[in-house]
Amino acid sequence: MRDATRVVRAGMPPAEQGEPFHPGPVFAAKFHLAGDPGQVSYSYGRMHNPTWTHFEEALAELEGGPSRVFASGMAAVSAVLGSVLRPGDVLVIPDDGYFTARLLMDGYFTEMGIVIRRAPTTGNAQAALLDGAKLLWIETPSNPGLDVCELSTLIAAAQAKGVLTAVDNTTATVLGQKPLHFGADFSVSSDTKALTGHSDLVMGHVAVRETRWLNAITQWRTRIGAIPGPMEVWLAHRSLATLDVRMERIQANALAIARYLKTRDDVTNVRYPGLPDDPAYPIASRQMTHFGPIVCFELPNKSTAERFFAASKLVAEATSFGGVHTSGERRARWGGDAISEGYIRLSLGIEHADDLIADLEQALNACRE
Ligand code: PLP
Repeated sequence: MRDATRVVRAGMPPAEQGEPFHPGPVFAAKFHLAGDPGQVSYSYGRMHNPTWTHFEEALAELEGGPSRVFASGMAAVSAVLGSVLRPGDVLVIPDDGYFTARLLMDGYFTEMGIVIRRAPTTGNAQAALLDGAKLLWIETPSNPGLDVCELSTLIAAAQAKGVLTAVDNTTATVLGQKPLHFGADFSVSSDTKALTGHSDLVMGHVAVRETRWLNAITQWRTRIGAIPGPMEVWLAHRSLATLDVRMERIQANALAIARYLKTRDDVTNVRYPGLPDDPAYPIASRQMTHFGPIVCFELPNKSTAERFFAASKLVAEATSFGGVHTSGERRARWGGDAISEGYIRLSLGIEHADDLIADLEQALNACRE
């Protein structure tokens, strides 16, 4: 079965006469619980919920390993770091990965005695830092630079040295790239982004290759309590059915827009891993099946970038990415990334490409006036 079919059906209950296709969310803090708690599937709402179970079964089918949902992408990132790392352990990170994940690692985890080594995503540079490490953290494509590294090479290098591997797969989603198939121990995702894709919920998940790590991740969630609400998980599961359709349109739009931007002499450094002349393409085309929603480019400075957003009618100025509405932001407004003041991170939605190109054209022309 192909993923396009799988996303429509995964995690749904077997057909039963008179029953709904997708049963509604189960709102429960406590479940009836007489006698030995070991004998029941559901006891208390911080530990488990049937709505989570359906969605987790769907994610497991797509990821190729069991999964656990979390209240946010950062809660999922924290679950892997907190379950694996102990004082004195070495963590190898990309120095161009998602800023808040780096803040968490650099801040809380170094203060608790974790030693951090960092290298860029590009050129598989992290491979040189693995001696004696406990965990290799990978993010490919990186956010917001859109550099890629080769999962098979980095994971094999880590395995040869007994180093665990975690891949932040947010940008690609499990439909575009499958970290566990490349041998990663953990596949981590912010499902706030393209996986759910409607900009109406915050969520994350972790999928694992080995049961011992599933137990550790589950225990972390139960003890920390970073759990998602049943309504959000139900919405996420409903949204999953259209993931392939959304990604197909989003990718076509991203390619069309990246190609258009390349024709302009007032735009520089256009990046999209799916563009055949992008530096990321040789690796991305080997390990990804969809190239994701993000296209980046540079305008000369901050004020030009601000004029671009003011003039655009279809690019909503907002952070986050992967939704059905095209959005974007001048990424340097947050600080923390090695990018220019005019660096734009665009997230393509599912609008018609011709409308998007016409809107970008008039907005970029307005910046010239
Ligand atoms: N990982 C990446 C690559 C992200 O871009 C983000 C959010 O932007 C996260 C993790 C954190 O996800 P959340 O905002 O759902 O906590």
